[in-house]
Amino acid sequence: MQYRKLKLEVAVHNFQYTRAKNAAGAIAELSKNPAAKLVAGGTNLIDLMKYGVMAPDRLVDINRLSYNAIQKESGVLSIGATVTNSVAAANEMVLQYQPLLSQAMLAGASPQLRNKATMGGNLLQRTRCPYFYDISEPCNKREPGTGCGALKGYNRMHAIFGASDACIAVNPSDMNVALVALDASVQVTGPKGKRNIPIAEFHRLPGKHPELDNTLDRREVITGLLIPDNAFSKHTTYLKVRDRASYAFALISVAVALEMEETTEGTTIKEVHLAMGGVAHKPWRLTAAEQLLKGKKATVENFKMAAELAMQGAKSYGHNDFKLKLAPNSIVQALKTASGIKA
Ligand SMILES: Cc1cc2nc3c(=O)[nH]c(=O)nc-3n(C[C@H](O)[C@H](O)[C@H](O)COP(=O)(O)OP(=O)(O)OC[C@H]3O[C@@H](n4cnc5c(N)ncnc54)[C@H](O)[C@@H]3O)c2cc1C
Repeated sequence: MQYRKLKLEVAVHNFQYTRAKNAAGAIAELSKNPAAKLVAGGTNLIDLMKYGVMAPDRLVDINRLSYNAIQKESGVLSIGATVTNSVAAANEMVLQYQPLLSQAMLAGASPQLRNKATMGGNLLQRTRCPYFYDISEPCNKREPGTGCGALKGYNRMHAIFGASDACIAVNPSDMNVALVALDASVQVTGPKGKRNIPIAEFHRLPGKHPELDNTLDRREVITGLLIPDNAFSKHTTYLKVRDRASYAFALISVAVALEMEETTEGTTIKEVHLAMGGVAHKPWRLTAAEQLLKGKKATVENFKMAAELAMQGAKSYGHNDFKLKLAPNSIVQALKTASGIKA
C-alpha cells in the first residue's frame, strides 16, 4: 500500500519578506502580525508553503541575527539557534563533549540539507505524517476538527506511545532525540523577556490539541541550545532504523549515553540516559529503562529486560505493528553498541 502522490495544485498565496536586524525586531514582527513566521534555513517551512500546508503572510528572515556561536562556559555547551546542523555536527567541542548530538545530526537528512538546516529550525520542524502534508486529507494538526486520516489510514511511520484519538503523528527530528537524552534546554527570548525551557518540556504530546507541537509562545524566538556537561562521551550511540540507508526519516531511533565503570563485579553502568525517536509526538525518554539499568552490569540479559520495560504501554495502529518488535530490538542493539559488549 502506498500513499497517494501529493498534489501541488495549491492556490497562489502572496507573502511579504523581511529581514530582522535583531531579536527585538523579529519579536516585534511576530507580535504585530499573527500570520508572520520566522524563516531560518527554510528547508521545512518553504516545503510546507509549497504544499499549501502553511501560508504565512510575512516571512521574517533571522539568518542575520547573531546566534551563530558555539561556546563552552561553566560546564555548559551553548550552540546558537542559527548555527547549521553541518557546522554543529563537525564542531570540535561538540565532538569532544557531546558526540551523541553530532551522531544524531549526521543521521538526519543529507549533507546539502544539513548545510542549510539550523538548530532552531530543526527543533521546530513539523511532522512528516502524509495526512498533514496532503491538504485534501483530514488532519487535526493542520486543520483542527477535521479528524485524523492516519488513525485508520496508512500509519506505518506513526506513534506507538503517547498518541491520542486526535493525532498519532511523530516528531521527525533526529537531533531532538539526542537533545532529550542529553538533558538540553532551549534558550528563548520574547515579549516577556528571556527564558530557558528544559527540552523535555519543550515538545508536547498531541492530546486534544495536536495543532500545538511545542510550548513556545508564537512571538518567541529561539536563540540557542544549552547542554550541560556529562561523563558520557566515550559511550554514546545513535541508532537510526529507516527504509533507506540515508535521506530517510526514522522508523525507530534510539539515543544511548552511558557512563561505565569497572567494579569488582565487572563492567557496570554508572549512569545511563536513553531516548527514542519515531515513536511519539515528542522525543520519548525511557526513564523506567534507565532506572533499571543504573548500577547494573552491562549484559544482553539486562538490556533485554530494560527494553521490555521501555515498551510497557506501547500501542500500534495496524501498519506500524512491526514497531512493537523493532523498537525493543533497537534498544538492545543500541545499548550493545554503546557499551561495546559483544554477546
Ligand atoms: C528531504 C528532507 C529530508 C529530511 N530528513 C531529515 C531527517 O532524516 N532527520 C531530521 O531530523 N530532519 C530531516 N529533515 C528536516 C530538516 O532537518 C529540517 O527541515 C531542518 O532542520 C529545519 O531547519 P531550518 O533552519 O531549515 O528551518 P525552517 O524551515 O527555516 O523553519 C522551520 C520552523 O522553525 C521556525 N524557526 C526557525 N528558526 C527559529 C528560531 N530561531 N526561533 C523560532 N522559530 C524558528 C520557523 O518559523 C518554522 O516554523 C529533512 C528535510 C528534508 C527536506
